[in-house]
Amino acid sequence: MTDLVRINELTRYFEIGGGKRVHAVDKVSFAIGEREIVGLVGESGSGKSTLGKTMLGLHDKTSGTVTYRGETLPAHYSSKDFQRFARKMQMIFQDPYSSLNPRMTVGEIITEGLLLHGLATASAARDKAAHWLERVGLHADHMSRYPHEFSGGQRQRIGIARALILEPEFVVCDEPISALDVSVQAQVVNLLNELKQSLGLTMLFIAHDLSMVRYVSDRMAVMYLGSLVEIGPVNDVYFNPLHPYTQILIASNPEPDPNTERARLSTPITGEIPSPVNVPEGCRFASRCPKVMDVCRQKTPQLQNVDGRFVACHLY
Ligand code: SF4
Repeated sequence: MTDLVRINELTRYFEIGGGKRVHAVDKVSFAIGEREIVGLVGESGSGKSTLGKTMLGLHDKTSGTVTYRGETLPAHYSSKDFQRFARKMQMIFQDPYSSLNPRMTVGEIITEGLLLHGLATASAARDKAAHWLERVGLHADHMSRYPHEFSGGQRQRIGIARALILEPEFVVCDEPISALDVSVQAQVVNLLNELKQSLGLTMLFIAHDLSMVRYVSDRMAVMYLGSLVEIGPVNDVYFNPLHPYTQILIASNPEPDPNTERARLSTPITGEIPSPVNVPEGCRFASRCPKVMDVCRQKTPQLQNVDGRFVACHLY
């Protein structure tokens, strides 16, 4: 599989004054193949959303690189760069309520990117918007309405149409269903799955719900406190997690199918996630890990290949 996007030691710190900084994303490296979906999981505050936004250039990176089809992306996009890179890499946001401008009509929202960057005439943009509204299960005549006239699930469909009208190849879905009622979550996931198949999209699918990640993803990546701790084929990671954090995360996720077998760890996760400002020496999970050893507090474990997946843990 050819890599579409590759990140190498991608790092994003937020300066918070007093010489302190939040280590939101720290030296994360992996690649996503063309038409591949990588599900990214981890607790709140693990850096998932920041990683997705930094990959797309929505956050400036502190260090590291993002390459797209082998070309290193610039730190800031010029108008020419937008056409070459940014329109090809879009984001579907978590909260369909706050990500749509309430003063703009749906037509204006969906066509904004095309018109702003001179990618279509006004009438061609409206034709495309009508097409994409229908494509995501809404109606062309919804264009003159405002976001507040729609339900949460419909607003997320508007957000999907806004991203896809630019004909991206790579989409970061940042918890696209977590703000929706359970009854409409499956509809939106099915829509994303259908669009992935028909458009050949490559995706980073960020989510809390591991069952959903398993359903849509080819590989699963696990982040803890800004670091990548495990990444591998989705069923390998889900049914036989190797990193103690992944084991606990998966064991604590409700299993929708009681007949499904998967690895479970009897020890529940305890303790608070350490502050991303004062990142501990050695393994970042050591303060909560039931298998901690002396070496874990002294030496930072690096990702290494273990039976076809990559794990950062001194047990391997
Ligand atoms: Fe636990 Fe040590 Fe592995 Fe970290 S390196 S996850 S503390 S066993």
